[in-house]
Amino acid sequence: MSENSLFTRIINRKLAADIIYEDDQCIAINDIAPKAPVHMLVIPRRPISRLTDATKDDRDLLGHLMWVAGEVARMAGVSDAFRLVVNNGEGAGQTVFHLHLHVLANKGTSKKFSENDL
Ligand code: AMP
Repeated sequence: MSENSLFTRIINRKLAADIIYEDDQCIAINDIAPKAPVHMLVIPRRPISRLTDATKDDRDLLGHLMWVAGEVARMAGVSDAFRLVVNNGEGAGQTVFHLHLHVLANKGTSKKFSENDL
């Protein structure tokens, strides 16, 4: 677990970030170094280090993250064409060891929206 991960600091408002969505289980932010015109990260509040560190008890949470990824893509206007990426482990390019889903799309608008919009 990464109790003091970069993303935990963002979740706890110790570090500024462009938070575009949050609920009781996760937040979504715009990536600070976007690799595509739309690049959002969906991050669970629970600091699971890697996807493969998730347990059976995390299955509902993992499903929720997928659902939120689809919803933030819809709100960003890219629900017809986006990629969902999870880098699991250093060898796969993971640099922040707090699970996150990358939502990547070639066009659309990154904007702020709330749970009420979903
Ligand atoms: P990964 O390489 O899969 O671990 O992805 C980590 C992502 O976090 C990268 O795309 C970074 O650009 C992004 N990132 C790092 N620091 C921040 C930050 N302070 N705010 C938003 N995104 C960040």
